[in-house]
Amino acid sequence: MRTEMLYIDPDTCIDCSQCVYACPVDAIRPDDDLDDAMMPFLEINAAYYEKYPIEPGTAVPRRSAKRDFDYSSLRVAVVGSGPAASYAALELLARPGVQVDMFERLLTPYGLIRFGVAPDHPGTKAVTDVFQSLGSEPGFRLHLGVEVGKHLSHEELLAHNHAVIYAVGAPGDRRLGVPGEDLPGSHAATEFVAWYNGHPDFVDRRFDLSCERAVIVGNGNVALDVARILVTDPDELEKTDMADHAIAALRKSNIREVVVLGRRGPAQAAYTNPEFLALTNLADVDVVIDPAEAELDEHSIRLIESGAVEPSVRIKAELAERVAGTQATGAAKRIVFRYLESPVEVVGDEQQVTGLTIVRNVLNEGPDGSLLATPGDQTELIEAGLVLRSIGYRGSSTVDVPFDEVRGVIPNDEGRVLEPSTGAPVPGVYTAGWIKRGPSGVIGTNKKCAADTVERLIDDFENGKLTAPKSGAHELERLVAERNPDVVDFAGWTRIDQAEIASGDSRGRTRVKLVDVESMLAVVRS
Ligand code: NAP
Repeated sequence: MRTEMLYIDPDTCIDCSQCVYACPVDAIRPDDDLDDAMMPFLEINAAYYEKYPIEPGTAVPRRSAKRDFDYSSLRVAVVGSGPAASYAALELLARPGVQVDMFERLLTPYGLIRFGVAPDHPGTKAVTDVFQSLGSEPGFRLHLGVEVGKHLSHEELLAHNHAVIYAVGAPGDRRLGVPGEDLPGSHAATEFVAWYNGHPDFVDRRFDLSCERAVIVGNGNVALDVARILVTDPDELEKTDMADHAIAALRKSNIREVVVLGRRGPAQAAYTNPEFLALTNLADVDVVIDPAEAELDEHSIRLIESGAVEPSVRIKAELAERVAGTQATGAAKRIVFRYLESPVEVVGDEQQVTGLTIVRNVLNEGPDGSLLATPGDQTELIEAGLVLRSIGYRGSSTVDVPFDEVRGVIPNDEGRVLEPSTGAPVPGVYTAGWIKRGPSGVIGTNKKCAADTVERLIDDFENGKLTAPKSGAHELERLVAERNPDVVDFAGWTRIDQAEIASGDSRGRTRVKLVDVESMLAVVRS
């Protein structure tokens, strides 16, 4: 059974050609084996398209040069190589003659696709096939192992290009701000995700999986990814590209129960319905909800009944109710969803976490009409040996580039970076992806986000607002090689890619990731 569901609408389509479930863009394929388990997925998409109808068979519009204009002198640096950066590069290169230099701190490209998307979601990772096409674009150059602020300055990039697009993502994590948060056994889910995905900066992390219960705070899709990975049979994970060290650790795991804690009610859960539903299809795993916690509060009932909220909110509440009404099968492992509860303290000693104290919340309407959790006075201790806070990613600043410390984003107006003191656009500086809009949306959301940014950049170029670079592309390349002799280009990445796939082939896996810089450089030089 697939554990992923590609939820497609024209704005988030990733061009992966895998959208098969009731997506009018690609319709259901005749040879699709749609068993009973698939039907609820169809209902979810049907409700969406009922509200936002599009013509069956309508192709997703691919944006490209619309105007008769000579772009052949345009040179752009893209910082980052994740989905937003890659979509931005593709969008720029759709205009004949444009030159794009992409800079990435790590030795492998594609950011969250490699280090964020769960290993058991190969369909989502298939978007890398689209990004790999960058390698055959004559105007594209990839520079891996180059950090802006360390090897190159922002000023140098700008001096050698008409424009720079920062698409550096949001690699940090948000903190709960409760006592005990830093005890051994309490971690950010973002670190756990980076660890099991083989991110070189997280390879040495240790997660104690010897306990029987883990608690995840927050119920977004990252929380669901982590919960699913913790209860999935390691033999299944062995088939994926999960890092070897994580598979080995998960084979020894004693975790039998994962509690997913939401501070608001089931209708406000941050996960998406297909991701939740997919958990109910996991082998030998019960998804458990206390019927009392699935009950909706008066505010949610009113909002759903009045039609003031998206159809997905109604479906979300119904799914929680359906699960709550289902008898557990006595499966070996359980994922327990709890709602309207917030952590107040991570409990334990200097050796290990032993639990999480939570408080029961009630929902109140906030000034903007959204429903907010307010703590009551009823508390409870959930015993657990592992606490993962999954309450969102956070962007970090790049030297000399404006940064909004409160929101963790680069201040911008539709992608044009703004000078914080004046609010005026900084000439030639743009942003896309999570560092532009905050850590939200699915991979495909970055396609429209990047296209919007590129549209602003192109407008500015056409209107003569961008300063021509001081020197040619080879000068920038010389500077990069001087600052970091170990820089890896697209050909070098292709060698790493092929080595990983070959190593996977020999073990019946999609790929075996190289997780340390030395091994990668050895392959590049070989
Ligand atoms: P998210 O969707 O923003 O969820 C964050 C969760 O943390 C929410 O439940 C939020 O509750 C909760 N939270 C925040 N502050 C809290 C606090 N102080 N105490 C308790 N709970 C708190 O973030 P995410 O899960 O990191 O996902 C990031 C983005 O990536 C999302 O757009 C997600 O859909 C996407 N993603 C998609 C997939 C997929 O499609 N398969 C997989 C992974 C990630 P409130 O709602 O009450 O604020």
